[in-house]
Amino acid sequence: MSEFTPTWQQPSHPDLIKVVKGDEPYQAAAYSLVSLPAGALFSKITTATPASQDTYTSVANGENSRIELNSDLVYCNHSCDPSLVFDMTKFEVRVSDRRPLAVGDALTFFYPSSEWKMVQPFKCGCNAGAACLGYIAGASAIPSSVLSRYWLNDHVRAFLDRSSNGSEQMAHNMPQSAAEGARVEGAKA
Ligand SMILES: [Zn+2]
Repeated sequence: MSEFTPTWQQPSHPDLIKVVKGDEPYQAAAYSLVSLPAGALFSKITTATPASQDTYTSVANGENSRIELNSDLVYCNHSCDPSLVFDMTKFEVRVSDRRPLAVGDALTFFYPSSEWKMVQPFKCGCNAGAACLGYIAGASAIPSSVLSRYWLNDHVRAFLDRSSNGSEQMAHNMPQSAAEGARVEGAKA
C-alpha cells in the first residue's frame, strides 16, 4: 500500500502543527508550533467524517464507529509516552495531563487510547525508552495494569470493563495452571 494522499488543504493548522515528511513512506511526523500547559486544549477536531472501514488513517470514536480526521492531525504518530490525548467523545485534542507541551515537541498520542484491536499492529519505535511497550496491537493486547497508567477514551474503557469482568480475560491473565483450574471449575458448575 502506498502512503495516503491528503485530500485537505495543507497546512490545515498553520499556527499549531508543522508536518515533516520523511524520505520514505510512513515517515511523516508532526511537531508543535506552540507551547501550552499540561491538559490544555490543543485543537478541536472539526473536519472529521465517518470512516466506513478500518483504514490506517482512521480513528475509532466508538465501539463500532470510526472517523477520518481530514487534517494534518493525522500526522500525529503513536508514542508510548505521548504529548497529546485525542478525546474522541469531545472531539478535541488536548495536551497530556502529564507534562506541558513545548515548541518543537513531537505531536503524538497513544493509539490504544482509541483502538481496542488495531487493524495494522506494528513494532513501536517511539523514544519512550524503558516505557515503550514494544508491540502495539491495540488496548486489548495490553495488561490492564499497564493501561491504567494511560488516559483512555470512553469506548476503550467500556471494552476494558467488559473484558476484565469476563472469564476470557481472567483466564488470559492467570498463569496457565490456574486458568486450567478455572476451566475445570467452570465445567463442573
Ligand atoms: Zn513505544
